[in-house]
Amino acid sequence: MRTFNMSKKLDYVCYDVRGPVLEEAERMRSQGLDILSLNIGNPAPFGFEAPGEIIHQMMENLHNAEGYSDSKGVLSAREAIVNYCEFKKIPQVGVNDVYTGNGVSELILMAMQGLLDNGDEILVPAPDYPLWTAAITLAGGKAVHYICDEQSEWYPDIRDITSKITSKTKGIVIINPNNPTGALYSTELLEQIAELARQHSLIIFSDEIYDRLVMDGAQHTSIASLAPDLLVVTLNGLSKSHKIAGFRCGWMCLSGDKSHARGYIDGLNILSSMRLCSNVQSQYVITTALSDLHKCDDTLLPGGRIYEQREYIVNALNNIPGLQVFKPKAAFYVFPRIDIKRFNITDDEKFILDFLHEKHILMVHGRGFNWLLPDHFRIVYLPKIEELKMACDRLGDFLEGYRQA
Ligand code: PLP
Repeated sequence: MRTFNMSKKLDYVCYDVRGPVLEEAERMRSQGLDILSLNIGNPAPFGFEAPGEIIHQMMENLHNAEGYSDSKGVLSAREAIVNYCEFKKIPQVGVNDVYTGNGVSELILMAMQGLLDNGDEILVPAPDYPLWTAAITLAGGKAVHYICDEQSEWYPDIRDITSKITSKTKGIVIINPNNPTGALYSTELLEQIAELARQHSLIIFSDEIYDRLVMDGAQHTSIASLAPDLLVVTLNGLSKSHKIAGFRCGWMCLSGDKSHARGYIDGLNILSSMRLCSNVQSQYVITTALSDLHKCDDTLLPGGRIYEQREYIVNALNNIPGLQVFKPKAAFYVFPRIDIKRFNITDDEKFILDFLHEKHILMVHGRGFNWLLPDHFRIVYLPKIEELKMACDRLGDFLEGYRQA
């Protein structure tokens, strides 16, 4: 009998956020166990509702959205994205520099497939949102991880980045605000990264899907606004800001100097045409979603859900002996450090599985985010405080007696 194996192209592709631990949680659920999921940044199941006008817009346009659109997206959506770029001071973006996508995810894959030849290198943060590493690997490239420093608010270590640039490096990815750390980068840091890209002729890929989820009165700066002379690919979408992850609505825009990247742009155009177009209903809500630029999301202010849940989780985790966590300024994740000596942890995935089996709570191990050591894990703090309290109580209880076998 002929057997069908996984393509060798996938041999080194890893995406653990939805990997074996999730499969185990699903197996336990199918046996009737109640599992609390703190593993995926998906606001809707935790009671965060999309703004009414977005739903209304989607329903209003169902008939208009029956056909394919232009591969890059309907003009009105791309015009709204161009406006958004102007608001964020992202320079030199016209409607032809914008690509809509089925979420940022599809565009990450396209951005890498269109650029990389076998062996080309892209600098990626560690920890990262692992789709970046997976997409680079699938495209035949090599993800070279640079360290983000927990002691410096999880900022990228410029010296480490510099030491990892080679003649094969084509670009650098930044995730700002960051998943999984929740870090928000300063203008000074972004300027340093832009300067490195300038010196070494790198394309900057800036994943800004959490740009509107910032707290404590902080401001998000798009790196593209600091680098009009460089090609910057900025990616964003509505999954998190407008709590419509299921609608699959994202975009990517090319800013700055494109004169030396005609070939790459041709590649992006081929890939964009090959998938015909992104989900057209979702494109129709972009104009409405991006017309509220000055509106602040109440959930991020003191008294609001995300803000208060962050306050709760950071305090609760820091009160558990053996755990330490940096207070994030943005997004809805924490990436706590665990004292691996104290608990004899050598395998962080096993630690997460042991906790899942004993306490029925699902988190993601740090190495799933391409972090090098088994000493971190990620929690999504979207559930209400009662549930976060239950999770932290169980974690404290579990760790009291835990020593990894
Ligand atoms: N980029 C980052 C940093 C993310 O955290 C996510 C989802 O969690 C994505 C991109 C993908 O988002 P979507 O495909 O829903 O737009």
